Amino acid sequence: MENKKDDFSEWYNEIIDLARLSDKRYNIKGMNVWLPYGLKMMHLIDDIIREYSEEKNIQEVSFPVLISRERLEVEFEHVKGFENEIYWVTHGGKDKLDIDLALRPTSESAMYTMFPLWIRSHSDLPFKIFQIVSVYRYETKHTRSFIRVREIHFYEAHTAHVDYEDAENQMREYLNIWEKVASDLCMDYSLDIRPDWDKFPGAKYSVAFDTPMPGFRSLQVGTIHEYGENFARDYNIKYEDEKGTLKYVNQTTFGLSERLLAAIIGIHGDDKGLVLPYKIAPVQVIIVPIAGENYDNILNYSREIMGEIKKFGVRADVDERDYTPGYKFNDWEMRGVPLRFEIGNRELNENTVTLSFRTQKKKIKIKREELSKIYDYLNTVNDDIKNKAKAFFEDNLVMETSFENLGTEKMVKAYWCGSRECSDKIENRFEKAALGRVYNNSDSGKCIVCGKGGKLSVFSRTY
Ligand SMILES: [Zn+2]
Repeated sequence: MENKKDDFSEWYNEIIDLARLSDKRYNIKGMNVWLPYGLKMMHLIDDIIREYSEEKNIQEVSFPVLISRERLEVEFEHVKGFENEIYWVTHGGKDKLDIDLALRPTSESAMYTMFPLWIRSHSDLPFKIFQIVSVYRYETKHTRSFIRVREIHFYEAHTAHVDYEDAENQMREYLNIWEKVASDLCMDYSLDIRPDWDKFPGAKYSVAFDTPMPGFRSLQVGTIHEYGENFARDYNIKYEDEKGTLKYVNQTTFGLSERLLAAIIGIHGDDKGLVLPYKIAPVQVIIVPIAGENYDNILNYSREIMGEIKKFGVRADVDERDYTPGYKFNDWEMRGVPLRFEIGNRELNENTVTLSFRTQKKKIKIKREELSKIYDYLNTVNDDIKNKAKAFFEDNLVMETSFENLGTEKMVKAYWCGSRECSDKIENRFEKAALGRVYNNSDSGKCIVCGKGGKLSVFSRTY
């Protein structure tokens, strides 16, 4: 396998092939085939997001993939933002449709067609739903598995509230959800308020979750948006308050995608392959029986051990394939399995297993009764992943105070006055975009370009 540090891009493509996550040989560019192992990882990520969303009373729905042109064009600014990316369905069989239908690029127009039917009174609020579906965007840029694709695996939450303040509370609640998701995925991130020219079309403001990736580019892995009354006015979403007055709702959204998978592959992986936080590992413990004179007994013992840890809810498997142990070790390490049990004659006779951590070189021998501590061992791997990711994050998001130093390959924090003029100067010279002001941070200093008053901001080349 390619060395990760030397050529991240090659390494990334290669590991996706080797670990059999997705296949990009489908005959439509940017539309990849999800393979079982990759799909399972994605579904495990979905499960985490679903759990934390439902905990906060955001309920799952599923909307049609098609949106009529008429509904899509209600919100001018919004449709402007997606104009060049929309796939259109124009025919039903041989008949030209009366009105063109779009494959959703996101679901505001679909959902806000229904909101006025469902939201009538203040007692219907707050109203909170999400869906996990495919959305379609005709990407013209270079496509890349899980990072830039034309059929996107997408989580979108949409909420409606009595006023702006309650919508702002929702924005903070999204961040609580995100914090838990990111912790399970062992990820660090920067919260950046996108500049006005880069916010979500139709939003009052957008906060993005940006993370440095190998290859000296940052990846936007998620966003939350405050809409205020912008969409409510266009889609006529009103409610009656306690006094019987009709008012527009205030809305928010939260989006995540398969880019989370890209971040996990890119940030945690090493020269041996994937390294997976246990919550998203399709196999959490792989048991490798080592051939010996009592192989049948070794196999039976291995299956018993599997049964015992499965009782704790652990996803475990015995690798009974006809390969050498060495081949199996490499194969499962490449696929990122957090823990490996090796079981041979000695372990069989001693009633033990030899435990190897994906993140450490050393092996330890544990007694059968110690299997009840399986989550401690899984958490050891998670802690190792978190520590390594944190070090990478801190090393790749650096503070700079002089314009010339913005040429570093890393993501940069610097003071910025917020003007387009200054960010253009940075972009033209260093190909780094303004990701925006750091959220919830009041530090101020001189703009790194013009010297006027500035706020702490982040700049980076982006994927
Ligand atoms: Zn400036």
